[in-house]
Amino acid sequence: MDFSKYLKEYPDKDGKFGSYGGAYLPEELVPAMKEIEQAYLTICHSSQFINELRRIRKEFQGRPTPVYHCERLSRMIGNCQIYLKREDLNHSGAHKLNHCMGEGLLAKFMGKKRIIAETGAGQHGVALATAAAFFGLECTIYMGEVDIAKQAPNVARMRVLGANVVPVSRGLKTLKEAVDAAFEDYLANYKETIYCIGSVVGPHPFPMMVRDFQMVVGVEAREQFQEMMGFLPDVVTACVGGGSNSIGMFVPFLNDPVEIVGVEPLGRGKKMGDHAASMTYGSEGVMHGFNSIMLKDEKGEPAPVYSIASGLDYPSVGPEHAFLHDSGRVKYEVATDEEAVDAFFKLSRYEGIIPALESSHAVAYAMRRAKEMNTGSILVNLSGRGDKDLDYVIEKYGYGEKYKDFK
Ligand SMILES: *Cc1c(COP(=O)(O)O)cnc(C)c1O
Repeated sequence: MDFSKYLKEYPDKDGKFGSYGGAYLPEELVPAMKEIEQAYLTICHSSQFINELRRIRKEFQGRPTPVYHCERLSRMIGNCQIYLKREDLNHSGAHKLNHCMGEGLLAKFMGKKRIIAETGAGQHGVALATAAAFFGLECTIYMGEVDIAKQAPNVARMRVLGANVVPVSRGLKTLKEAVDAAFEDYLANYKETIYCIGSVVGPHPFPMMVRDFQMVVGVEAREQFQEMMGFLPDVVTACVGGGSNSIGMFVPFLNDPVEIVGVEPLGRGKKMGDHAASMTYGSEGVMHGFNSIMLKDEKGEPAPVYSIASGLDYPSVGPEHAFLHDSGRVKYEVATDEEAVDAFFKLSRYEGIIPALESSHAVAYAMRRAKEMNTGSILVNLSGRGDKDLDYVIEKYGYGEKYKDFK
């Protein structure tokens, strides 16, 4: 496949990446999505929008985030050099703000007063509440009561930022019910509201818009690496939940002689319910408004999923990933909970960087791969920082005492 005109060709006018993607929506929402698509396609070419987004990234988010050479970690493994794109240094501590600021700016340009979303672990909620505060938009975040109890620090952050966090008490009181509640709100209020999707998933145009907003990561990293080294890395990798940090990292490298690898969470193992490796173990199907590869149970419903990293436990992947997988251009590998925790402690101890457990999956793969290659270089997207995971990790694994002897 020829990737030189990739961005012009994908998605197509129906929002499809090959057979994946599209928009599977209730009748009432078709015009609402069309309105967002039309507005985005117009606004994203306006110099006013582009300049404003550029200013926000520089002055508010602190971009560009650096590319960093992990000398000690690399030396411990052998001769292959590991580099990190430091999205943990993006304002609010992860890559998610990249698309939330884009979505917020779009809402502003469209004259919408309100942005809403659901959140599971609270990361998307915090990023969206941050964007809402910046733009002076009303913000409502739906969250299951069970998740509210588990994620108190993120709930506090959202509320301090001025968001209205609505507890959802029906059903199992977790993410699925929160999605339903947010969807009902959107159906009733789409005239003044945008439902901001938190990854490269959902109906068209969201997988395209979120990808475009996240591409700043790969564009910067490619240029920074080239400038540091005079050549490109041999391997580029990132963790894959819904797929936003990875797609943003990958797309700018598609037309380069660079191996690209997405890393999915294998959790506790291969059994259904023990992992969230949708691409590795899933099959084609429609859910949440789009067609992609997904994990299904016997009834064809979204399967139960699990990962130690709550940002990765999604039973599908963005349609563009499914397409890139089938094309053979991007490979998908897995890392277990144990491997991710090992990477979490090693990066903390040997480099002074505490990674998010999500990002730790990509670091774990890079470490495994570096050992095999024993030459060349690997660029990892470090999607977020691990402060949010500390309490949980310490409770289950202690302070990483077994890593203390490395010099
Ligand atoms: C949410 C999250 C992810 C997973 O989402 P993607 O859309 O797959 O990028 C990864 N890393 C961090 C730090 C997150 O917060």
